[in-house]
Amino acid sequence: MCECSKVHLFEVEFKLDGMIVVPTHKNCGFALDEKQSDKFQKELVKSWGFEAEEE
Ligand SMILES: [Zn+2]
Repeated sequence: MCECSKVHLFEVEFKLDGMIVVPTHKNCGFALDEKQSDKFQKELVKSWGFEAEEE
């Protein structure tokens, strides 16, 4: 599990593990924790030009 204090979107690689996407930090090679993954998946969606839907 990645424990880096600062992770930037451009350092995150979205790897496919079966049917799920696992955001992985390129710098350390570890998967991000749930909180970080959630944040980066939202940022990734934003970078595609879509706003994440807030519920
Ligand atoms: Zn890391």
